[in-house]
Amino acid sequence: MNKLPRSRTVTICPLYPYRPHARANPPVTAVSQRQEARSHENRTKGRSKHQSVLKSRKTPVTAGFQRQEARPHENRTKGRSKHQSVLKSSGNAKVNKTKIEWADATWNPVTGCTPISEGCTNCYAERMSHRLAGRFGYHTFDPFRVTVHHERFEEPLRWKKPRRIFVCSMGDFFHANISTAVIDALLEIMVACPQHTFMVLTKRAENIEPKLYEVTLDNPCRELGGGDYLPNLWLGVTVENQKRADERLPYLLRCPAKVRFVSIEPMLGPVDLEKLHGIDHVICGGETGPGARLMQVEWARELRDQCNDFGVPFFFKKMGGGRPTPKDLEIRQWPGDAK
Ligand code: SF4
Repeated sequence: MNKLPRSRTVTICPLYPYRPHARANPPVTAVSQRQEARSHENRTKGRSKHQSVLKSRKTPVTAGFQRQEARPHENRTKGRSKHQSVLKSSGNAKVNKTKIEWADATWNPVTGCTPISEGCTNCYAERMSHRLAGRFGYHTFDPFRVTVHHERFEEPLRWKKPRRIFVCSMGDFFHANISTAVIDALLEIMVACPQHTFMVLTKRAENIEPKLYEVTLDNPCRELGGGDYLPNLWLGVTVENQKRADERLPYLLRCPAKVRFVSIEPMLGPVDLEKLHGIDHVICGGETGPGARLMQVEWARELRDQCNDFGVPFFFKKMGGGRPTPKDLEIRQWPGDAK
């Protein structure tokens, strides 16, 4: 796999993906995030939100769901922009708090999935969806099928306090059954919420590039948020062992992102990070819940040491299986923390 050269300059070239990306891999600090937000504002000044997210995509964005919802919405919101109308109608916004250690909230505009690899055997999302069958928008007889919940799209707009938001914790954002129109609509919400960080994690790494950039002969390049990535979107892949890391990480490394992260959870075998140059954050944890497969503590320690050697921030969640975390693994670093 060719490694893309890194450059601070945003260069949009019609030969995408064979172009330098805006990818300087700086440590993420509050100051750099503010700077990013400001430069993003400057880049997108004078363009509509629609234009800035999808500058080069030819298909009308969100056409599918917008057509369905447009009429009743139009009547209620005449004379207001989309953003204003959301804020006005939001009232007290309920935040979807989460026990996931590396996120402040979850946002599930799409739920449901299909198992894809050994890491899915004891899928928490599948288990939960069966518990919730027939309620909260989950289908009664097939609760884990991929379902788009339009009514949840605007939730982050109502959360004023900046949050780290895990997107699609109850499914896979890049599942084949999630259309690019839906993904575009969600990207627009992210653009409208620069105060939040959206963390998207997938096992379908091969779908990231086509679904984000929809590279085709007719549409060879596309800008996100005025550049080639959204400053508040972190892209990550989940891997459970070396085999899946070798398969999935090269796809992630092709894509520009403010932060590219890997979640090794549930860790089902040792993972060598040597080949993984270009990763900005590593999260690791053992499996939890019924039938949990035990992670060996040595695998986690080796990973911690590799991260230390490469200066990659390491975040250890838990051992799983009800086992306590060894003292030397009580590490919760974020991009910008690692020396
Ligand atoms: S990809 Fe994730 S959400 Fe989908 S079945 Fe596997 S573990 Fe569950």
